[in-house]
Amino acid sequence: MRKLNTIILGAGISGLAVQHFLKSENIIIEKENYWGGLCHSFSINEFIFDTFIHLSFSEMNEVVEIFEKSSHSFKHKPRAFNYYNGYWIKHPAQNNIFSLTSEEKTSIIMGFVNRKSFIKKNYEDWLRIQFGDYFAEHFPMQYTKKYWTVEARKLETKWVGERVYQAPIQEVIKGAFEEDEINRFYAKEMKYPCIGGYQSYLKELVDENNIDFSTKVVLIDPDEKSIITDNKKKYYYENLVSTIPLPELCKVIKGVPTEILRASEKLNYTSGVIVSLGFNKMDIPKYLWYYIYDEDILPARVYAPSLKSINNVPEGCSSIQAEYYFSKLNPLKYSLEEILEKTIEKLSLIMGFSEIDICVSDVRQIDYANVLFTKDIYENREMILNYLDRINIKYAGRFGEWDYLWSDQSLISGKKIAEKINNMSKVFCNK
Ligand SMILES: Cc1cc2nc3c(=O)[nH]c(=O)nc-3n(C[C@H](O)[C@H](O)[C@H](O)COP(=O)(O)OP(=O)(O)OC[C@H]3O[C@@H](n4cnc5c(N)ncnc54)[C@H](O)[C@@H]3O)c2cc1C
Repeated sequence: MRKLNTIILGAGISGLAVQHFLKSENIIIEKENYWGGLCHSFSINEFIFDTFIHLSFSEMNEVVEIFEKSSHSFKHKPRAFNYYNGYWIKHPAQNNIFSLTSEEKTSIIMGFVNRKSFIKKNYEDWLRIQFGDYFAEHFPMQYTKKYWTVEARKLETKWVGERVYQAPIQEVIKGAFEEDEINRFYAKEMKYPCIGGYQSYLKELVDENNIDFSTKVVLIDPDEKSIITDNKKKYYYENLVSTIPLPELCKVIKGVPTEILRASEKLNYTSGVIVSLGFNKMDIPKYLWYYIYDEDILPARVYAPSLKSINNVPEGCSSIQAEYYFSKLNPLKYSLEEILEKTIEKLSLIMGFSEIDICVSDVRQIDYANVLFTKDIYENREMILNYLDRINIKYAGRFGEWDYLWSDQSLISGKKIAEKINNMSKVFCNK
């Protein structure tokens, strides 16, 4: 039994940031035997892989400073591609349709010309208004099914922001004749650690001695201000900060009202399966990353750890990772072994490798990947966060705030909570 000023749930980038900036005694409770959460990198036979794509495009000085202190970086231009029906198309596809057939180019351009303006009720409407019917139906609506696991009409639109490039029609027409040379991606430059995978950017934040690894919180008593873990430890706290997913948090709170539990069960999110392949040859991947629209190819996106950093592979080798998504609304249809097999079968054809080129393969499931912005998200989230405020549980990070946060935003989310606690302690001391 131990009393601490602050207990932090989760050692992802947000939980690590809370700990790093806190001035009082604290501990992190982490269910895995490693830190980093979604920013964790893993190594197999000298091949280093990340948990999903991960490149940094942060422009927040305080984050850039921490990442720079943690690791030297390679810098990349965000030059991505799309694989569509046998064609390789530079990203964004709407600006680079020149390699498609004349019929398809005409249909896309006519779709843009005939765009209608109407009151959008969901993401599908948003896509039709921006891109016209043909492009919307063949590109982003297909990708939405693969990446977000649901039809675009099931999503609302506040999350879109600058994430999807909205090309004027002149650019679409020009792109039917020639490659668009201008970078239209929402970031001008992507950075990646020279050594050790994406998690190396977090090194400056980590204090392993103050993380209780392989420990899961199983009960939180907000009245007693205590938590119990699966290995039967009991801690008392002054402050509790949660960065674990809201549905997991609500399940373990003693006396949680039924309507809050129900609201947490209604929150939707995607889960992911990551296929990682190491090759005994260089130059298998041609692109830093690419998106796949075809429904018969399972992954939504493929990227190349060996292009992110040459140090992610042994000499003379290369590597790729492929992301496949599912959710409660579109459950997993295959076993992990089947996903591995089907991914290798299709990618070997489009990328030109054979099974004998593969020297490392891995497939793993990540339960929480992206918050899904289905239409009822805001009222359910608000209800839960108001309840957490009432029982004095603080929250940070992507799944604590339940929002579409990049790693830099998750770090800042954790930092803000630490500062709040530091300021509260000051007020307490001054009294
Ligand atoms: C597909 C994908 C691609 C992305 N690409 C990028 C990118 O290119 N650039 C970028 O900046 N960001 C990217 N992100 C976003 C980035 O990964 C997140 O913003 C960030 O990692 C979230 O950190 P977090 O600490 O809030 O959550 P997490 O990393 O999820 O950390 C939560 C921690 O809590 C632990 N935990 C969960 N339940 C319990 C429990 N019951 N008890 C104890 N511990 C528990 C978990 O094991 C985990 O360590 C991407 C995310 C995804 C899904």
